[in-house]
Amino acid sequence: MSIFWSPLVKDLTPYIPGEQPKHNNLIKLNTNENPYGPSPKVVEALKREAGDTLRLYPDPDAFLLKTALARYYALSTDQVYVGNGSDEVLAQAFLALLKHPQPILFPDITYSFYPSFCKLFQVAYKTIPLNDAFELCIGDYAKSNGGIIFPNPNAPTGRLLPLASIEELLRQNTVSAVIIDEAYVDFGGSSSATLINKYPNLLVIQTFSKSRSLAGLRVGFAIGQASLIEALERVKNSYNSYPLDRFALAGAVAAVEDMHHFEQTRNKIIRTREELVKGLRTLGFNVIPSAANFLFVRHPERDAAHLFQQLRDRLIIVRHFRQPRIENYLRISIGTDEECATLVDALRGILREPVRMN
Ligand code: PMP
Repeated sequence: MSIFWSPLVKDLTPYIPGEQPKHNNLIKLNTNENPYGPSPKVVEALKREAGDTLRLYPDPDAFLLKTALARYYALSTDQVYVGNGSDEVLAQAFLALLKHPQPILFPDITYSFYPSFCKLFQVAYKTIPLNDAFELCIGDYAKSNGGIIFPNPNAPTGRLLPLASIEELLRQNTVSAVIIDEAYVDFGGSSSATLINKYPNLLVIQTFSKSRSLAGLRVGFAIGQASLIEALERVKNSYNSYPLDRFALAGAVAAVEDMHHFEQTRNKIIRTREELVKGLRTLGFNVIPSAANFLFVRHPERDAAHLFQQLRDRLIIVRHFRQPRIENYLRISIGTDEECATLVDALRGILREPVRMN
């Protein structure tokens, strides 16, 4: 704290990302990264980019990347927006589409960056409780609002809403923006991208960080009707013409084009997830059905904070949120088969030990 801080900064509650450990002797199942590397074609594209052209600014309109994404989703390039990770795209969408006098709505248990954006941009919000099974009920959103946003599948629960429910929401809510954050949709959901030409208030946001193995490159994007995309462009062009550098643009294009690598790695992760569900249930864990690259689990007889620490002592890191309703859950990212087998073995060992009272 300093006297030079603006009143706005004094009042912020910044988002805290999962730990990025300094040593790589840990099994890292805490930030939903992909356990497999990106397509070799991405690496080749990055190498090609490392040369003389780095003295030039990148394309401020990201035309090649927008073209690749538009082709992939059967949309036009003016229906695509790209940014520096989907966190940046989300932030811009809060400013461009969600900042209205009326409060926006999102679930009580959801991506914890949303309330941080609200504080930063002074967007009023109301949280809508998920039901006891952590399901999102569309009827609960039938009230006047400045916009609606949630991830599908939701984070950190992993629960998926079927496309029919998203469409029901869009029929019910026509006068404000509906933003679906599809960071994890490639691991078991159907994208709402197919509804875009039907609903002018739908914005879908995705990332290259998860299913495309590019968390380190920082690329995210939004798709929606051209008038929504124009709002995002106006925000971006009011403070940074070049949020994506030459590497990010070239790598992302190569990633979209390599369908084979994408299909192979995501299918592997889905298979590993289903094995891990079985392994954890055998150990007595309650596992919420997940369509994402992580599981949200609790053990009826064990304290989650304690389990988190016992795993860390065994060099396995998962995520624990000290937050009402979910303090007894752990979120576990899907790793390789070997990593998940090591996790299950570690938990088996921990559960054999007597319960320690804190
Ligand atoms: N949305 C959700 C629901 C997420 O969990 C994440 C990852 N933390 C993001 C968006 C942001 O991902 P990125 O900025 O890496 O694209």
